[in-house]
Amino acid sequence: MGSIQFITDQDIIKSFCTDASDYQGHAEALVRPTSLAEVIEVVKEANSKKISITPIGNRSSLTGSAAPSGGWILDTSQMNKIIDINHQEKFALSEPGIMLSDFKRRVLDEELFYAPDPTSEKECFFGGSIATNASGSRTFKYGSTRKYVRALEVVLASGEVLNLKRPSIEKNTFGYIPFQNMVDLFVGSEGTLGVITKTEVDLIKKPENFFGGLIFFSHLNEALDFVVSIRKELLNNSPIITPRAVELFDHHGLNIICPESPFKIPTEAKAAIFFEQEYTSSFEDILNNWLSFLERSKALLETTVIAKQPKQQDDLRRLRHKVPSHLFEEGSNYVKEGGGKVSTDWSVPINRIHEIINYAETLAKEAKIDEPVIYGHIGNGHPHYNFIAKNSIEKAQILEVVNKTCQRAVSVGGTIAAEHGIGKIKKDFIKYYYPKPILNAMEALKHSLDPNGIMSPGNIF
Ligand SMILES: Cc1cc2nc3c(=O)[nH]c(=O)nc-3n(C[C@H](O)[C@H](O)[C@H](O)COP(=O)(O)OP(=O)(O)OC[C@H]3O[C@@H](n4cnc5c(N)ncnc54)[C@H](O)[C@@H]3O)c2cc1C
Repeated sequence: MGSIQFITDQDIIKSFCTDASDYQGHAEALVRPTSLAEVIEVVKEANSKKISITPIGNRSSLTGSAAPSGGWILDTSQMNKIIDINHQEKFALSEPGIMLSDFKRRVLDEELFYAPDPTSEKECFFGGSIATNASGSRTFKYGSTRKYVRALEVVLASGEVLNLKRPSIEKNTFGYIPFQNMVDLFVGSEGTLGVITKTEVDLIKKPENFFGGLIFFSHLNEALDFVVSIRKELLNNSPIITPRAVELFDHHGLNIICPESPFKIPTEAKAAIFFEQEYTSSFEDILNNWLSFLERSKALLETTVIAKQPKQQDDLRRLRHKVPSHLFEEGSNYVKEGGGKVSTDWSVPINRIHEIINYAETLAKEAKIDEPVIYGHIGNGHPHYNFIAKNSIEKAQILEVVNKTCQRAVSVGGTIAAEHGIGKIKKDFIKYYYPKPILNAMEALKHSLDPNGIMSPGNIF
């Protein structure tokens, strides 16, 4: 095929056959297109021979979605240019293969801000974050990736290129609503509908100032009560606090961060809430608002950490990231025995958060498995509830608990996958959320855009 190089050395390919979930895939070749024209050529060739293609970003997926089920791996890392950062209209246009943190830093250098902030932003590509509709701690204020995507260039399985724009019209009654914003079909599609080759995203003005904080509690339930009270406060006409991030550490999470925390973690603390607050006028005023809000809670007030300096702010975010990266490392010690880290990303409406956590705790106790680490995006009703399985037997017991918890999450109005998608390892849970006819309709859509089923087979369906 033309001048495009196909790598077929299995020693190289093997290292591209898994992702952060440790799911093991397999492939016959690895190809690294450098342009739209090359992507089209590769995809057309694959389609004509009915060879499957799995586009990959930086393979930080936690669901096996980046692990190929045979065929060719289409590595997007060579398509990594930012094409435009437009001040006037506040958007950026970029190829997919740039590291998300690099993309965000370049935008920030221009005094603009790209809000989506998955914890893995230093480990994932811009394109991968679009293909998974990634979210992060600041999703609490800003929403997830989808909201920012205003145009996409996508290569379909046939090689046809679609240039899709989010409609800017205020009214439309034409066509089924989920199709009216065609961009949304591809955001979060986990490589199953086409290869994303360019994306235009909304930027906002860089927030003037922010500070971070860590608030300790002597019981997990008190931290959860506090989060519910924040959400209630935000419903007021003039809330006195307006955090952009509200994240949880349970006592296991605190134990993980303790050894390298530059901040004192009180021994009586059994949970903590990490927050970030933006401000434009007086730091003292907004800090006083926080302190008076905290006085009404059961926080261990005297021990509260406030991080105003950039170094302290970075330290707090680093500690937040430490929890998943520690679990990832610990889990990988048990992969050979059939164990490993079991990640969950179910979420529920905030008023059901105590109930679902109590339910999941009871299930884990009944199954006599080790306690999970509960941490993350609690402000969105979305804690990660992650286990370490030491072997295959423990893993099966844990998956049973996760399965029941996902079922319960949906029954109280939640979802089975708020952040990481479905990939190859969470397909069993889809049925709890989508009625069969709707799932069939999604599959039919996939089939009509990709009749030979070559795009990321094994993902979602
Ligand atoms: C420590 C850790 C923390 C994490 N924290 C978060 C978090 O806070 N929030 C969050 O949302 N996720 C998180 N994740 C999961 C993961 O980082 C995200 O899903 C990320 O967006 C994946 O990006 P990637 O570039 O690594 O994509 P990959 O893992 O390579 O691919 C993911 C999926 O996207 C598809 N894909 C990739 N590029 C393209 C493309 N150009 N066109 C079409 N399809 C494509 C792949 O086929 C695959 O289905 C975390 C992961 C780790 C390991």
